[in-house]
Amino acid sequence: MTGFTLCDYHMHTPLCGDAEGEYHEYAQYAEKRGLSEIGFTGHCPQYYLPPAERDGHCSIVQEELGTYIEEVSKVARNKQGTLEVRTALEVDYVPGKEKGLVPFLHYYDWDYLLLSVHFINGWAFDDPRQVKVFDEKDVGKVYTEYYRILMQGMRTGYFHVVAHFDLPKKFGHRPGRNVREEEDALHLCRDMGLVLEVNTAGLRKPVKEVYPSLRLLKKAFNLGIEVCLGSDAHRPEEVAAGFCSALKALKEAGYTHLVCFRNGEKHQYPIPEGYCK
Ligand SMILES: [Zn+2]
Ligand SMILES: [Zn+2]
Repeated sequence: MTGFTLCDYHMHTPLCGDAEGEYHEYAQYAEKRGLSEIGFTGHCPQYYLPPAERDGHCSIVQEELGTYIEEVSKVARNKQGTLEVRTALEVDYVPGKEKGLVPFLHYYDWDYLLLSVHFINGWAFDDPRQVKVFDEKDVGKVYTEYYRILMQGMRTGYFHVVAHFDLPKKFGHRPGRNVREEEDALHLCRDMGLVLEVNTAGLRKPVKEVYPSLRLLKKAFNLGIEVCLGSDAHRPEEVAAGFCSALKALKEAGYTHLVCFRNGEKHQYPIPEGYCK
């Protein structure tokens, strides 16, 4: 390894159905982009649905979770000495279904777990096929409900990282007023010692900005909340995509350090100088 540079802590797997490419191709791109570490975060099996309805849509089916771990471990072995590879999960948090989730949390010694909220009362609000539902909603209320669910997820204590913090903005919907729960969620993030993910997928979506916004990153910095980076790559060539925009926003917010994980333990590392030419 040529020295510690950057980690991309959010990338998907062909097992999820909504991602393309082989594991080693994600690793290849990471090396090409000068990263020193990556973490695979396949979607946790659909613990929140009755077993008969778990179709594996956009998530790993339970029977393939072992394969997922094996495949990631294989890449980790092959890349030993050049690229660190972490084994993690993105968990779609659904309140009230925690009992079904627990076995997956203990299934493996995950390096870290991402907390994600993609559903508000069963509505997949970030799914392009369901974007029309926004038209029937008070957008402010959508944000309020979203942050309430996110906070419930944070309080479980199961997670290390809060993924795409302000996800409801994906298609450009803005609350048009201050959402108190947004502030509450940031404070809870700090109080729970959770790491905030700076997710660059937003740059590739209609909203055209990172999650969370620069405004929120400034607040997070003032609260002393630590951050990590994730591309949310669904294709190998998306690994580290937009990282220079994210680093620019982080610097502007005041950040000088990022966080990486080893077996659930977080460590700080300095934002490398000269990564972005
Ligand atoms: Zn997600
Ligand atoms: Zn994701």
